[in-house]
Amino acid sequence: MSAGLDKLMTGEDADPRVNLLGKPEWALTQFFDGLGEKPFRARQVLKWIHQRNATRFDQMTDLSKNLRAQLNEIASIELPKLVSEQTSADGTVKWLFESGAGQAVESVFIPEVGRGTLCISSQVGCVLDCSFCATGAQGFNRNLNVGEIIGQVTYANCHLPLRPNGQPAVTNVVFMGMGEPLANYRNVVPALELLISDYAYGLSRRRITVSTSGIVPQIDKLGDECNVSLAVSLHAANDELRDALVPINRVHPISELLDACWRYAARHANRFITFEYVMLKGVNDSIGEADQLAGLLKRKPAKVNLIPFNPFKGNEFRRSSGKVIEAFQNRLRGHGLVTTTRKTRGDDIDAACGQLAGKVRDRVRSRLGEKGRNSA
Ligand code: SAH
Ligand code: SF4
Repeated sequence: MSAGLDKLMTGEDADPRVNLLGKPEWALTQFFDGLGEKPFRARQVLKWIHQRNATRFDQMTDLSKNLRAQLNEIASIELPKLVSEQTSADGTVKWLFESGAGQAVESVFIPEVGRGTLCISSQVGCVLDCSFCATGAQGFNRNLNVGEIIGQVTYANCHLPLRPNGQPAVTNVVFMGMGEPLANYRNVVPALELLISDYAYGLSRRRITVSTSGIVPQIDKLGDECNVSLAVSLHAANDELRDALVPINRVHPISELLDACWRYAARHANRFITFEYVMLKGVNDSIGEADQLAGLLKRKPAKVNLIPFNPFKGNEFRRSSGKVIEAFQNRLRGHGLVTTTRKTRGDDIDAACGQLAGKVRDRVRSRLGEKGRNSA
């Protein structure tokens, strides 16, 4: 890819200064090495940015005055720019962040007793076009760069009050906002490194979840490189239905996907894969389908998370009734599968799963001549 196109894809702007926000320890060490500085400078700066919320080099009092002046010239700490903030009746907060060319991506903070979960975006839109997803309906423009991904966490910790125990507000991070994280692998992995690093966010791998619609080669790579918690958007128990709901299934069908999941789980003792299953009225919510799903997942390191469908404008699917969801859940439990139903949070501000649309200038369907959805 040419440097120019690469910049366009990652959204780097014209500011010639390097944004240090998106650099994990190894990259920051290289950066300081280039300045003739020792590796420990990288760790000092990581702590200032990610643990002490510094946004200016003048604040970094354990760096020499000369180094601070040099950093002011050549580097920056650029947090995402806020477009709007909405707070739901249930305390969920949704932020819309600028992502260039009039576009915006969304992050959602979900406060719960004992934890604060931040749901972050990895792309401006999504190319995978699942038929029940508001992000997919928007089309795709570009990948977020590392600074834009991790910056959502930095922003949240800078702006939310500390927890009662004095810890930062964000205790858990889920890649369940806009975009398919494994389709932006090269920027998501450094962001994961920052989430895990003791010099940055120091979160345990169990508190970080990457949710994927099933890009199999990247699942294996992620297992090799990061092994954070994995959630897989299954949504159907047979290929015919999954082909229609989650089009990537036509490339990586269910059996291939599940094999990759079991390989992923086998890398760690007691590692379970969470299977997400959106409950669509009359589409995938029958007892027969619960049995079929159990047939795939029984006696495997699997948990099921049922997600009541969240409607959005222009989409014809309906949410399964509470009774149907309960019956489906009980049936799975009857088969011995650990099954939970996701509480719908923030739907009064369109912040629930699958409702995140942001503002996306689609560059894919317009190029394909508006063939319509799922025409691949
Ligand atoms: N691209 C990734 C992560 C983002 S979507 C993925 O697909 O896994 C996060 C979760 O929300 C996924 O399980 C997705 O299938 C689900 N989802 C999408 N649209 C939804 C909707 N309208 N209602 C409920 N869940 C939805
Ligand atoms: Fe993309 Fe995930 Fe939405 Fe599918 S569900 S269109 S993969 S964001």
